[in-house]
Amino acid sequence: MIEGPVVIIGTGQAGFQTAASLRIEGFEGDIFMFGDEPGLPYQRPPLSKAFFKDGSADRLLFRNQDFFEKNSINIKDNCSVKSIDRQKKQVLLDDGDTISYEHLVLATGTRNRALPIAGSDLKNVLALRTLYDANHIRKTAKAGQRVIMIGGGFIGLELASVLREFGCEVTVIEAEKRPMARAVSEQISTYFVDAHTKSGIKIHCNSMVSKVLGEAEAEGVKLSDGTEIGADLVFICAGVVPNSEIASEAGLETSNGILVDDLLLTNDPFISAIGDCASFVHKSSGTLVRLESVQNAADQAKCIAKRLTGTPKTYEAVPWFWSDQGGKKLQIAGLTGSADKLICHSDDENGKISVFAFENGQFVGVEAVNMAKNYVISRKILETGKPVMLSDFEASDFDLMEILKKIS
Ligand SMILES: Cc1cc2nc3c(=O)[nH]c(=O)nc-3n(C[C@H](O)[C@H](O)[C@H](O)COP(=O)(O)OP(=O)(O)OC[C@H]3O[C@@H](n4cnc5c(N)ncnc54)[C@H](O)[C@@H]3O)c2cc1C
Repeated sequence: MIEGPVVIIGTGQAGFQTAASLRIEGFEGDIFMFGDEPGLPYQRPPLSKAFFKDGSADRLLFRNQDFFEKNSINIKDNCSVKSIDRQKKQVLLDDGDTISYEHLVLATGTRNRALPIAGSDLKNVLALRTLYDANHIRKTAKAGQRVIMIGGGFIGLELASVLREFGCEVTVIEAEKRPMARAVSEQISTYFVDAHTKSGIKIHCNSMVSKVLGEAEAEGVKLSDGTEIGADLVFICAGVVPNSEIASEAGLETSNGILVDDLLLTNDPFISAIGDCASFVHKSSGTLVRLESVQNAADQAKCIAKRLTGTPKTYEAVPWFWSDQGGKKLQIAGLTGSADKLICHSDDENGKISVFAFENGQFVGVEAVNMAKNYVISRKILETGKPVMLSDFEASDFDLMEILKKIS
């Protein structure tokens, strides 16, 4: 159990949850949080979903100012931490102040990947990560505009469907052979390509944008095969990179993020890293992962709050994630990326699909669209940590609930 100040760099999902959970666990020492964005900590997921329609920033806040005051959480916004002095156990702020820590939590998240193509700095080339970006998009987008999304990942497709509903002509350009290729099975990609295409969104796969066209403002894009597509707005949705420089400059180990062990500690026992910025070996898959999800940020924060207050436990949470696209809810539990066998159950008439994923004959995850029951039961199965075999899913009397009952 530590007593002294805990300093948290980053006031996103992971940083906020760390501070809140420390107080829940009874930590009475000082907590300092520093975030380089303006305002109180807020949720990002609605930015590419409901926020475009309602524009209500207050609803995004995790807690209001009272919460931070009542819980004696010192939070400083618009403040960037410039460096870490591991010898002195201090961080240096951009205003020149230094703050000492007994334990330091790096919750620095990610930033949008910049595309090294000509024209990407033109006016009307936009991206979405922050509340500021989302407000800017709301002010700039007009119904009837031609919009190009460079990148067909979750955020690109969520934003594409929101803008389509708003009345824009939307084209998605994806470099891979299918959208969301890094994150979901081919069946789920195909499902969403069909759904988006039916709603009027055009999707070009295996296509690279070589240039954003225009003089001062974006007027379209040029693809590497020479095709030109006109646009009034161009969005760069080409993924993110971890904010790990502050860690590597302080001599902490990094590999696609800040490397942490199964307790979420860096190679310095006085510094933890969590959330989107942290890479770790996932317990059940044995692979090095860096997860970009609310679940991972929040659960890792709870895990270190427990450790810092005297109940250390290795981080083993089952990953889960959701994405809302054009009225369809995709829910994922487990890690499905390395699956070698998939079983698909679909109800085409009602637009529902579940894909169960297996590796070496063992159940490793589910991807379900509008099939919440399959998602919930599968997640519970995975959370038991008990092995469930492919043969259980292939049995003629297959019943997911019965599988769960059998192992519970
Ligand atoms: C538009 C959008 C939609 C999303 N939708 C979903 C979804 O549907 N489901 C889901 O599970 N996840 C979703 N996510 C992902 C989810 O929001 C992230 O996984 C989560 O926010 C990660 O939290 P974090 O605290 O690790 O990082 P972040 O939220 O990125 O917070 C890190 C903060 O630290 C700040 N920072 C970095 N360096 C410094 C420094 N040196 N000094 C001070 N401050 C610093 C950053 O500016 C940032 O404010 C979405 C993300 C976005 C952008």
